Amino acid sequence: MSIEKFIFEKQEEECGVFGIFSNNALDVARITYHGLYALQHRGQESAGIAVIDEGTVLHHKDMGLVSEIFNRVILDHLTGTCAVGHVRYSTTGSSKRENAQPMVVKYKNGHMAIAHNGNLVNAADLRNKMEENGALFQSTSDTEVIANLISRYRVGSTNIEDTLPKVMDEIQGSYALVIATPQKLVGIRDPLGIRPLCIGAIEDSYVLASESCALDSVGADFIRDVRPGEIVLIDKDGLTSVQAKTPGESRLCIFEFVYFARPDSVIDGVSVHQARVEAGKRLALEHPVEADIVIGAPDGGLNAALGYARQSGIPYGQGLLKNRYVGRTFIQPEQGQREIGVKIKFNAMKSEIAGKRVVMVDDSIVRGTTTRRIVQMLKSAGAKEVHMRVSSPPYRFPCYFGVDISSTKQLIASQNSIEEIKNIIGADSLEFLSLEGLMKIPIGADCGFCTACFDGNYPMEVPEEGDKFCCGESGV
Ligand code: SF4
Repeated sequence: MSIEKFIFEKQEEECGVFGIFSNNALDVARITYHGLYALQHRGQESAGIAVIDEGTVLHHKDMGLVSEIFNRVILDHLTGTCAVGHVRYSTTGSSKRENAQPMVVKYKNGHMAIAHNGNLVNAADLRNKMEENGALFQSTSDTEVIANLISRYRVGSTNIEDTLPKVMDEIQGSYALVIATPQKLVGIRDPLGIRPLCIGAIEDSYVLASESCALDSVGADFIRDVRPGEIVLIDKDGLTSVQAKTPGESRLCIFEFVYFARPDSVIDGVSVHQARVEAGKRLALEHPVEADIVIGAPDGGLNAALGYARQSGIPYGQGLLKNRYVGRTFIQPEQGQREIGVKIKFNAMKSEIAGKRVVMVDDSIVRGTTTRRIVQMLKSAGAKEVHMRVSSPPYRFPCYFGVDISSTKQLIASQNSIEEIKNIIGADSLEFLSLEGLMKIPIGADCGFCTACFDGNYPMEVPEEGDKFCCGESGV
């Protein structure tokens, strides 16, 4: 009997980051712990907290959920004025403790703890060059490449703010970084703003987080998002900003609104919940169908299902129940019992759907395996018809910016037509939101978007598909 990762087919994002600099004698470790709890949806593979107090750095990180890794004794031990925290998702192959973050390094100018959300597209090249010059690496994470560059450029420089723009000149890809040094907490967002990062305040202390839901959970007031290409520096004198790179047209990942972010977050001025409801409304306008009930695939499809129901006038119901206690790992069923895996996580509500024509809304279809099993489950529970509606366009191209789809071969929509996918999943009809419709869902957004996984229009040069590395792996 083996204990394996319980993999569902949703695309997984790499990480969530959190940081705090305290001017009010706050318990920075506990605040970071609570912030990471709110960001747990962004990564369940490993978590860590590093705390810096003048010359001392203390840290604790491990594989598992935030609740599994930390306890009262550990948090009591992590004392300091500045903390960074990290939750990480990784593919099975890169699921190693040495890749857990924050990455704590000691170099000529002292200690530094780095937490990174994103993925560098040129990490392998940079690392190869550094190794040729004698550099040693202890992990396979692209974050260590960033740490190495900071260390190199910091030689002879007294301020980290002089160093970081040079590092940003070298690295390409997506990065939302939170860095703790003995004097400062630093937040950096890549020049295209692909991954989110926002600033909050608790009295005179500042907080940085991947999503605003983490600010809410620690009682911090939202101040603003970090701008693409901006470095924010926080110390005992407050917050200062350096616009290190001229922001061009920003390219925030549109998937934050489709699936990744928590619905109670607001990113670059847009409510994630409202964007998802809007996606459902537009889906109903583009692809109406005669039906008796609209249900959402938990949890990603629920908001869009609500929007579809509101727009179409078809009653909204709860047709699928999700078991919230299925953990990160579970004992896989024996061969021949694979269907049980989905049944452990989802169950159909017979009383809601039996004898009805059902519209099931989900946020995306990646490999199609889970969708097929859920459609079967609904039909076995007595649904007369199952009409699948997806609140994003077909996912056809791999992501190189922090999502674990490494090959077009893994993507059902890049290998099959919509009609073929409909037949594979066994639905009575299948429709996707158009790209034009998707671009209208972040109402009031003050940024541009990356849509590359739908249209192949990457915002920068990306490696050959065979060379793609993912989830913090440099592939070298
Ligand atoms: Fe987001 Fe897709 Fe762009 Fe990746 S390719 S950053 S998932 S929009």
